[in-house]
Amino acid sequence: MTTLSLHALRKTYPGAGHAAVHGLDLTAASGSLTALLGPSGCGKTTTMKLIAGLIAPDAGEVRLDTGPITHLPPEQRGVTMVFQNPLLFPHLTIAQNIGFGLRMRGLPPARIADSVAAMLSRVRLDGLGDRRPAALSGGQQQRAALARALVLHPRVLLLDEPLSNLDPGLRDEMRQLIRGLQLETGITTIVVTHDQAEAVALADRIALMLDGRLAQHGPPEDLYRRPASLAVARFFGGVNFLPGRSEGGVFRSALGTLTLPPGMPEGDGILTLRPEALRLGPGPNARMARVDAVTFLGTQTRISLTVEGCALQALTTPDLATALAAGTSLAVSLPPEALWLLPPE
Ligand code: ATP
Repeated sequence: MTTLSLHALRKTYPGAGHAAVHGLDLTAASGSLTALLGPSGCGKTTTMKLIAGLIAPDAGEVRLDTGPITHLPPEQRGVTMVFQNPLLFPHLTIAQNIGFGLRMRGLPPARIADSVAAMLSRVRLDGLGDRRPAALSGGQQQRAALARALVLHPRVLLLDEPLSNLDPGLRDEMRQLIRGLQLETGITTIVVTHDQAEAVALADRIALMLDGRLAQHGPPEDLYRRPASLAVARFFGGVNFLPGRSEGGVFRSALGTLTLPPGMPEGDGILTLRPEALRLGPGPNARMARVDAVTFLGTQTRISLTVEGCALQALTTPDLATALAAGTSLAVSLPPEALWLLPPE
């Protein structure tokens, strides 16, 4: 069991105007699965390469438990990285690919064969060990690459966008496989993704990176319901933002005075409410609203509203939205327990 920690990790590529990773501090608890989440170019892959030792930081340290590993070459770190496009050796069979690292370690052939057979079955590739990579589907190649990493029992496993090349059905299957194997082996794992729904479904904790910095790190629910900043809230699909001032348990804004939940900070801020928490109908903090648009999205319907001159959005089930059309007026409620205050920009 291994805790991975990054301390003030910094990397600027030669010739780049800004740092790709900007003083990153992050701890992944022993046996946990952390999703390293963020938009394209925010520094996720760079962070993984720094942990794996494929590139060197300009400053800062990577530690496993309390021991620094920053000075060690990749093969001595106990860290294995699986890339987005699995780099299986094309001329070797799948079984030989999975056993490759064990052969390099000089293990006896019989033990390698046993470990490989067990691993093939764990990633559901039984019977496919004699095939070459080209004779496997993309999803099967991903599973073979995962097996090749796991068979080495790394202290830390890094998976770079393991699901992005798979179609939606396979993605779900691979997600469950990764989570199942991770729980079974207890290997401290970091999964890179740019998809927030995927991070929420997979991880114990999410580390959200924006522009080379850690924007928030916590359980998925925290990033959804208690975002640390406007940028985090926007990344997680937040759309309702009201600037104003918090004072004595109420928030004063263009919507008038709204009751806040207990414990909110005082002073200027931005009130936010997730669109699925905005209730159609009377209730606490009720206001009259005009419906501007009703957009059917499949499992949900988006209602665009104007409330006291402010644009707000609600997400509701399609059956609740059937009676609504552009131009309708109705009462909406902003339940205090669903309100959250963000710091001003
Ligand atoms: P993506 O999701 O698109 O893979 P990412 O979050 O993994 O993106 P990185 O690949 O870490 O982001 O890139 C971070 C920043 O560093 C980007 O601005 C990128 O253009 C830059 N960068 C990445 N690799 C290099 C390199 N080898 N040389 C110069 N700049 C690089």
